[in-house]
Amino acid sequence: MRRPILAANWKMQKTIAEAETFAAAFLPLVAKADAVDIVLAPPATALHALGQALAGSNVALASQNVNPNEKGAFTGELSPDMIADVGCRYAIVGHSERRTLYGESSEFVADKAAAVLGRDIRPIICVGESDDEREAGQTFAVIGEQLQVSLAKIPKDRAADIVVAYEPIWAIGTGKTATPEMAQEVHAMIRERLRVMFAADGDAIRVQYGGSVKPDNVAELMAQADIDGALVGGASLEAESFSQIVNFDGGRA
Ligand code: PEP
Repeated sequence: MRRPILAANWKMQKTIAEAETFAAAFLPLVAKADAVDIVLAPPATALHALGQALAGSNVALASQNVNPNEKGAFTGELSPDMIADVGCRYAIVGHSERRTLYGESSEFVADKAAAVLGRDIRPIICVGESDDEREAGQTFAVIGEQLQVSLAKIPKDRAADIVVAYEPIWAIGTGKTATPEMAQEVHAMIRERLRVMFAADGDAIRVQYGGSVKPDNVAELMAQADIDGALVGGASLEAESFSQIVNFDGGRA
């Protein structure tokens, strides 16, 4: 049985004060959610303060991105050591916005995922097809290729420490959610690929769905056999709404 994981990606939103206000409202609302993993990924400027606000709680801190190099001339970047330093236990890598807006390749994503694992930070590795790719019937081929390359540097004995996020690009921030059946179809395919890549160890990898997840659709998505969690953008910005997502089964998760 894989432990559900609900993660918030705030993207380029929230100041330090806003992140702290969120934490103060959110932590009491999820204090009893002890059967799920809860993760918040604020912008880099709020990592340190939010990490302090979450200390000792059941909510983990994540970076939205990371550079795979240890140090050096990489202006504007953060190394695995640096995000470990502020208390990150997860790092989102290969989000579609980074792949499309900043040209990040699956090879680069693979380097990031391997680099953070080396610092005992769990990568949340994102994959997903565009609208055009889905229309052209290429969804499985695109996701298969992204998985093959992005997970290529994960040692087999660390498979349990990675998380995969399936996020159809056409569903991110658009209000268009994949139906639970559409999401499950791709998750089942991802699960098969993970078994091919990691044998029995692949069964321990959690696969989240992302794309307009909201309090009113999370339960039916989570009810699907191969959906182990959610990566949430817009609906994670308010403490009330993200707490409802975390407590998707009425707090008995
Ligand atoms: C995301 O940013 O990964 C995401 C899924 O966003 P939203 O929930 O707003 O679609």
